[in-house]
Parts: sequence; C-alpha cells; structure tokens
Amino acid sequence: MDLNKNNIIIFLGSPGSGKGTLSKLLVNKFRWSQFSTGDLLREHITNKTDLGKKIDFIIKSGKLISDTIIIEIVKNWLLKELKNKSVVILDGFPRTENQALALNNMLNSFCLNEPKLNLDLIIIKLEVDDKVVISRLLNRVICENVQCKAIYSLNKESELFPVKEGICSLCSARLIKRSDDELNSIVDRLKIYHQYEHKIIDVFKNSDVEIINLNVDKSIKIRYEDLLTKLDLKDKCKHL
Ligand code: AMP
Repeated sequence: MDLNKNNIIIFLGSPGSGKGTLSKLLVNKFRWSQFSTGDLLREHITNKTDLGKKIDFIIKSGKLISDTIIIEIVKNWLLKELKNKSVVILDGFPRTENQALALNNMLNSFCLNEPKLNLDLIIIKLEVDDKVVISRLLNRVICENVQCKAIYSLNKESELFPVKEGICSLCSARLIKRSDDELNSIVDRLKIYHQYEHKIIDVFKNSDVEIINLNVDKSIKIRYEDLLTKLDLKDKCKHL
C-alpha cells in the first residue's frame, strides 16, 4: 500500500466477520479515518431522528436501508474526509452493486474535480464460515456509550469476554445486545451479504483495484498482524 497516495479501504465481509474491530485497530494505530454506515444509522435510531424512526424496524429485521439514503450519506462524508485524511476506511459500504457503482462514479468525479487526488482503492475481503459468525453474533454485546462502542462476547472462551461482567472495561458503561443480533435477523443478514458479495466485487474487477483476501477465523491479534503484512505496513509501523 502506497501511503503517499489517497487510499480508500473497503472492508467487505459478512456481519460478524470483524470489519469494525480491524478498522478500529488501524484507525488507532495510524490515525486514519473510518466510516461505519451501521454505527451512523444506529445513532439516528438512538437519537430518534426522522431517519432513525424510519429505519428502526428495517435494521432490527436485518434488511438493508435504501441505496439512495446510504449513497447520499457516504458521498457527503467522503467528500469532506478525503480532503483531510490520506487514508479512509469504509466499514459496511458498499453493500449492494448499486452502491458499488455509485462509489465508482463518486471517485471518478472526485478525481476530475480535484486533480491532486491520487486515489487507490483497496478491498479487504474478510473470509470466515457462516457458522463461526452466527455464534459470534449470538454472543456479541456492545458498549452502549456511543463514543466507545467497544465490542465484547458473552462466550467465556472468547478473547472478548469482558473482565467485569456486563460492564465495558474501557469506559465502565453498560454492555447491551444489538437489536439485530437475533437468530432470524442474523440469518437474513448473511443471506443478503452472500447475495451481493460477488456482484460488488464484479463492479471493481475490471478497474485498478487491489483485492486482498484475509482469513479472519483466527485470534484478533493474528488477524491484525496478517492484515498489516498483506497491506505491506508491518515494517512501516515503527516509522509512523
Ligand atoms: P452493520 O453495523 O454494518 O452490521 O450494519 C447494521 C445494519 O445497518 C445493516 O444490517 C443494515 O440494515 C444497515 N446498513 C448498514 N450499512 C448499510 C449499507 N451500506 N446499505 C444498506 N443498509 C446498511
């Protein structure tokens, strides 16, 4: 990965594959910028905004929010962020081929309007069995503090089992379950993910996009180290 360029990293992976966890590790280490569409939508629900009221049930049932809404939100964020940060991470977008096509168009028009932008797009495809993610999601709890949002597991064997039961070790807020981490919704989310995964990759296949496959059925530490190696950042860590 060439850090002298503007990079957009897309994490493409099923729910529970650990997109958010890896994104946060990179953001903390390199001070990059991350955008989780799911986090933003959940904030709308918590704050009971008009959008929040409209999408509450859709999210709970594991369906996707309309492309038009999501594309507009991401476009505004990207426009602002690409001017400030050299590397931005998209966590949870694109999720459909229409979103992927819209992203392609956005990037082309950004580059036309801002000739100084030298953009590289990298897709990190997280690979893990559905059985593993179903168990992860059924056990997942998150910190209810929106500034924190740390992820834990109720599975005592997991490295994410909280030190103090029910309490976030980072900020001492309560741990809660996400409304969509319930079996029916998980199964629907996985179905939708598999329906679109290849279609999204096909959109980018013919352009100059790097696709990195990462096995994420491993401990978080090893996943992260593998990712740094694949991004060619392991040696660069100490200089950054
Ligand atoms: P996540 O936190 O990424 O697992 O997303 C949670 C939920 O938010 C998804 O199941 C969708 O209902 C909605 N969502 C997040 N990102 C998108 C997107 N790019 N397109 C449509 N819906 C989305």
